[in-house]
Amino acid sequence: MPEIGRILFLPGDGIGPEVMEEVRRVIGWLGRRRLEFAVEEDLVGGAAQDAHGVPLTDATMARALEIGTVMFGAVGGPRYDDLPFAQKPERGLLRLRKDMDLFANLRPAIVFPALADASSLKRELVEGLDILILRELTGGVYFGEPRGIEDLPEGGQRAVDTQVYTTAEIERVARVGFELAGKRRGKVTSVEKANVMHTGVLWRRTVQALHDREYGDVELDHLYADNCAMQLVRQPKQFDVIVTDNLFGDLLSDCAAMLTGSLGMLPSASLGAPDAAGRRKAMYEPVHGSAPDIAGQGIANPIACLMSFAMLLRYSFDQAAEADRLERAIASVLEQGHRTADVMQDGMTRVSTSGMGDAILKELDRSIG
Ligand code: NAD
Repeated sequence: MPEIGRILFLPGDGIGPEVMEEVRRVIGWLGRRRLEFAVEEDLVGGAAQDAHGVPLTDATMARALEIGTVMFGAVGGPRYDDLPFAQKPERGLLRLRKDMDLFANLRPAIVFPALADASSLKRELVEGLDILILRELTGGVYFGEPRGIEDLPEGGQRAVDTQVYTTAEIERVARVGFELAGKRRGKVTSVEKANVMHTGVLWRRTVQALHDREYGDVELDHLYADNCAMQLVRQPKQFDVIVTDNLFGDLLSDCAAMLTGSLGMLPSASLGAPDAAGRRKAMYEPVHGSAPDIAGQGIANPIACLMSFAMLLRYSFDQAAEADRLERAIASVLEQGHRTADVMQDGMTRVSTSGMGDAILKELDRSIG
């Protein structure tokens, strides 16, 4: 039986391995339906620090580059808080993103109807919400030079960060945005501050030119970042795909995340540029961390991780039908009232991590009759 592809599993620390176990079970289920993945596993974060004295070894990094598709759990924990900066578990994650050149960060904000009351906004504003924030991840003010803090001769100090973007950097992330929108509801909102920033002017001009040249079938709007933040809490359903830079994306994706009300439900994907064969390097991970407060208790919500795996099916292996099936199974299980502790509501059935996995697998079985 031909394999669909290879995946490198990096479960990491805390609840990372617990939620990744439920992904393994779904992969097993797909395998029984003749959709085989070759899964390899390695250490990252505190687990790698304990075993090798670094949060990510060069060998693991090389393996991630060679395999190209990474499913990541979570890293970190109080045991590692006092380590020097370079040895902290999070450095492993940052190195993966940087060395794989994952410039496009996708953060969907999806509100399942069954969980609409968990949002801080009114039910009617968020019920059925399905938007995607696409954040440029490797450029902009977090990386621009010069940067630093210097002493001034007259006393005091001066701090500098540099916001910098090239046409090529803007184009490659905008292209991802147009392509994603083409597979969704066909609308891109490009977000910057062209009213006060030169990078914003170039951003707007470049996105518009790419649209006019190649993506005329996708609707394109431009918004200033401050207005976008306001619109996200005023009427979030007006958006489909929002494409923006590193700094604004950082803020707007957290803002959109809170519309859904629960950290245990939020998936993400980070994509690189396509190679000659059209394959992108990519990493998929839940937005949440290692949750040391609940680790080892078997109560973590595995849905963020499973939704990240659905993104892997869709974006790395073109298995949209299977991704849809998994997302539908998750929605049905929530409809039936199954809840992990973090999203528990009155009258619902409380389940463990593996209990949620059991219910989802049962629903997957039902989906094939
Ligand atoms: P966190 O996301 O780990 O947890 C925040 C809160 O949300 C906790 O109360 C936790 O119990 C809860 N929570 C998170 N995910 C959950 C899930 N799937 N199911 C149920 N409840 C869930 O953030 P934190 O507490 O700020 O950080 C803990 C550690 O994780 C730190 O070491 C931090 O540096 C690290 N971290 C790692 C990542 C990552 O690996 N991508 C992201 C954020 C934080």
